[in-house]
Amino acid sequence: MTTTNFATKKHRIIDCHGHYTTAPKALEEWRNKQIAGLTNSALAPKVSDLKISDDELRESIETNQLKLMRARGLDMTIFSPRASFMAHHIGDFNTSATWAAICNELCYRVSQLFPDNFVPAAMLPQSPGVDPRTCIPELEKCVNEYGNIGINLNPDPSGGHWTSPSLSDRHWYPIYEKMVEYDIPAMIHVSTSCNSCFHTTGAHYLNADTTAFMQCLTSDLFKDFPTLKFIIPHGGGAVPYHWGRFRGLAQELKKPLLTEHLLNNIFFDTCVYHQPGIDLLTKVIPVDNILFASEMIGAVRGIDPETGHYFDDTKRYIEASTQLNDEQRYKIYQGNARRVFPRLDARLD
Ligand SMILES: [Zn+2]
Repeated sequence: MTTTNFATKKHRIIDCHGHYTTAPKALEEWRNKQIAGLTNSALAPKVSDLKISDDELRESIETNQLKLMRARGLDMTIFSPRASFMAHHIGDFNTSATWAAICNELCYRVSQLFPDNFVPAAMLPQSPGVDPRTCIPELEKCVNEYGNIGINLNPDPSGGHWTSPSLSDRHWYPIYEKMVEYDIPAMIHVSTSCNSCFHTTGAHYLNADTTAFMQCLTSDLFKDFPTLKFIIPHGGGAVPYHWGRFRGLAQELKKPLLTEHLLNNIFFDTCVYHQPGIDLLTKVIPVDNILFASEMIGAVRGIDPETGHYFDDTKRYIEASTQLNDEQRYKIYQGNARRVFPRLDARLD
């Protein structure tokens, strides 16, 4: 009997989607110099030029994410580098490798300073047109030395021009093989759009979420990798809203039912910033496939005048849901995350 274990597990709310959006300004200044160095090597900074003390890290977290987590009653955040700053389209592989190493080290340090509240997930040093295999050493370091429990995988390192093959292509298999070996999931997460047609967080992010799902739907990727796990963030983009379309397309394509074809491997988060959106998500998508997340201090930082609360205070919507019972809330808050992130589960309790 595993159906009642929610009652005996420690009550804990895990936010599976947080980025270090509040890093000290020195980080951005270093990055600007790195970018300037691409056209004038005399301006290129050394890694050792970046100096951020533990006190600065502590303050940037205590006055921001941790303050809001305490106010909202969240216990732990899976914490990765700022997504829009990954900007894999800038420079070449070496540019991304240096930048990813710096950003991952900062998230690791935050996780060491606040071991009960933050657990790191890594960005990869992706670069357009470069074999993803080149990301493996950083990934290995982040898991083995930094205790990362997941990664963010950018399906479009070109930043809005979609020059990489579909996520189902063998191009990505070296990453998937490593994920399976380490038993870590990937959040499928794009970065800044450098295509002016696509607003970064309003269009590119949601487009990518929808695109990633469809790339999986049209393929047999999870036949090759039955234990591979993807989290599609931002509530799955347009997917839950158009679930009937996706079921119908799968049928036309002679694919199995989506529950068998994709839902052993694909999960959605709750970064949906209004009650009707969360109600739709939790009604359409099986609760076992939904992970709590807020992506706080991210794309939408304001207060909703209709409710008087922050748009990204997503716990309020889960609490106010009239469809969810206690066991289902347990799964969304904690149970599913522990299943999808086995390395986190091993660390808790
Ligand atoms: Zn994000």
